[in-house]
Amino acid sequence: MASLLIRNGHVISPDDQLDGKMDIWIEDGRIREIGPRLPAPVPDVIEAQGQVVCPGFVDLHVHLREPGGEVSETLETGLAAAVAGGFTSVCPMPNTSPVNDCAELTSAMLEKAKRVGLARVLPIAAVSVGSNGEQLTNFAALTKAGAVAFSDDGKPVKTAGLLRQALREASRLGVPIIDHCEDLSLSAGGAIHEGPVAARLGVKGIPACAEDVCVARDLVLAEESQAALHLAHTSTAGAIAMVREAKRRGVKVTCEVTPHHFTLTNEAVEQYGTLAKMNPPLRGAADVDALRASIADGTIDAIATDHAPHAPQLKQKPLAEAPFGVIGLETALALALTQLVHPGRISLAQLVRLMSAHPARIISARAPHHLGRLRRGDPADVTVFHPNLEWTYRAAEGRSKSCNSPFDGWSLKGAVTATVVGGRLVYRRDR
Ligand SMILES: [Zn+2]
Repeated sequence: MASLLIRNGHVISPDDQLDGKMDIWIEDGRIREIGPRLPAPVPDVIEAQGQVVCPGFVDLHVHLREPGGEVSETLETGLAAAVAGGFTSVCPMPNTSPVNDCAELTSAMLEKAKRVGLARVLPIAAVSVGSNGEQLTNFAALTKAGAVAFSDDGKPVKTAGLLRQALREASRLGVPIIDHCEDLSLSAGGAIHEGPVAARLGVKGIPACAEDVCVARDLVLAEESQAALHLAHTSTAGAIAMVREAKRRGVKVTCEVTPHHFTLTNEAVEQYGTLAKMNPPLRGAADVDALRASIADGTIDAIATDHAPHAPQLKQKPLAEAPFGVIGLETALALALTQLVHPGRISLAQLVRLMSAHPARIISARAPHHLGRLRRGDPADVTVFHPNLEWTYRAAEGRSKSCNSPFDGWSLKGAVTATVVGGRLVYRRDR
């Protein structure tokens, strides 16, 4: 395999205490050397002057729709979108059709992903058979096949009893349970956040308490079991406050937030319609403020996209009927820079933690050990981005098969310029 030199970039890897102008020399798929002005005799050079060079981003929450939803996304298009967004590893949720609830399906997905050869795929398997909330899947067989975590995402783990069992079994294997927190008796029939916007639009709302009640349940059980619980797409001030308290008590809880939840309020639904409909819904301004503050103070561990492609014909429906979800792989970095770094809420090093080091740590028991760091001898998964490059996002020109993004046409500041997975240059931005 060819050699590659990423030269003159600002290398940031918080877990390796790297933060300065350096070169990275990659050979035979691995990092051969990191340091200033390396005398590497390398034909392939990425000139990274003025850019950030960091461990590849890890997305804990994507929907790649294969098998069963190929009209909206395939592994090829989803993984192409991932590397265009700087993600070298992505964790697909199991709510495909069929649900990823057995080792055969996990293995088949991994084989296909290997053939595609873009980002690494680290599958999240279902907690319950068919994600029906009745019977636990075979956690041992699924982790052996390559699952790095368990979730019934799309819905919450149905009952406290099942979640208690799941936490115990996951703890035995060292993997986290990832829960989509929603009390279905409180959210039933809702389309967007409960409040004046829902009232004006004449649709039923999803109250913040639908999320908070489920987070409370989950935290009680995580504390009791001392097992690792990761909360998907936290969206309310109440949920975050409970997580902060639980962390203080030593509960092994982590949580993620999506770029759309820290960027938009529910007011956006009036402008973008079904392109701003997702679950959990966009919340109120006080919730968004709480999310931003909790990203800054470290309560929120990771940024995850919840990339949820839907073909146009699926989204072109009345608000109450359209499916939940927006795409996000290709806009996550730019939104994080635009909303969090450029206004001074977090540093570039914090951004790298949120998008790489921390998500890697959350799944570290079963994921490759080199994720989220840059070390000599490791497989080279590297993201290069220009923090100040101004560009306009055009969803139709993206790599994802779907275009369902409220950010279509937005001017953003900061863009991924190159993505390297296992030493291979898998994405390069053409200016
Ligand atoms: Zn979810």
